[in-house]
Amino acid sequence: MKYIGAHISASGGVENAPLNAHAIGATGFALFTKNQKQWVSAPLSAKSVDLFKKYCEEFGYVPASVLPHDSYLINLGHPTDEGLQKSREAFTDEMTRCQQLGLDRLNFHPGSHLNAISVDECLSRISDSINLSLEKTEGVTAVIENTAGQGSNLGFRFEHLAQIIDKVEDKTRVGVCIDTCHAYAAGYDWRSFQSRNDEQSLFNDYSQDYDALWADFDRIVGLKYLRGMHLNDAKKPVGSRVDRHDPLGDGTIGIEVFQRLMSDPRLNDMPFILETPEPDRWPQEIASLLSWTR
Ligand SMILES: [Zn+2]
Ligand SMILES: [Zn+2]
Repeated sequence: MKYIGAHISASGGVENAPLNAHAIGATGFALFTKNQKQWVSAPLSAKSVDLFKKYCEEFGYVPASVLPHDSYLINLGHPTDEGLQKSREAFTDEMTRCQQLGLDRLNFHPGSHLNAISVDECLSRISDSINLSLEKTEGVTAVIENTAGQGSNLGFRFEHLAQIIDKVEDKTRVGVCIDTCHAYAAGYDWRSFQSRNDEQSLFNDYSQDYDALWADFDRIVGLKYLRGMHLNDAKKPVGSRVDRHDPLGDGTIGIEVFQRLMSDPRLNDMPFILETPEPDRWPQEIASLLSWTR
């Protein structure tokens, strides 16, 4: 079973997310459980929590179909003690919100070294941050998203994800979300050799083609850690390190890769989330993806 949806609006209250998702024909969804641009938000009200659970049940959204995303302000690998502390508190609050909503995973961008500490130090801070939040919550998995490698953001190589997971104590509550655009921007090429004409890749130390990519991911990280995917086409060429999403089929990755993902029997029981521009096209994108699922 593949759960397919988009990152939809929860404005007016988290309980609106399942309603908005259902309205566009989604079988899964992503949401922010608080204002993603603010450090602190009011706690979830008992009424919001009850309605959220009620609508999820009514429209068949099981926990494995929902992939909440944390605030963009949080940096779990922050180089300063103050920044780290603030991020850790905010992340634990986000994990707690997911727990209150009966959800079982929280998607986040690993963190940035801000050119102030080494890559290894930053990755180890991220692991420690995850450990601290897991200790204070129950039942929610911390789901690390791969990044495009813009600026000093880490998580653009599978090795980074593996290194973070390695130092997490409770391996049952850590996972990974692969964003197709981010992987491609980082240098991982999803496309088959045949579909690339004679284009040569300049990124030879990254996996080149769909099967090689998953084989490398399985060897380096482990497919068993995959807890969701973000489905986005890319505006920029492979290896650009620039994170610009495009509607499926409009970008440089191309529609064939999304068709393959939907028919891949290894990728099941997890949410597949569109973060594509042009929300008006989501109902059509979701219908297409559903029609390709196996
Ligand atoms: Zn993403
Ligand atoms: Zn992105």
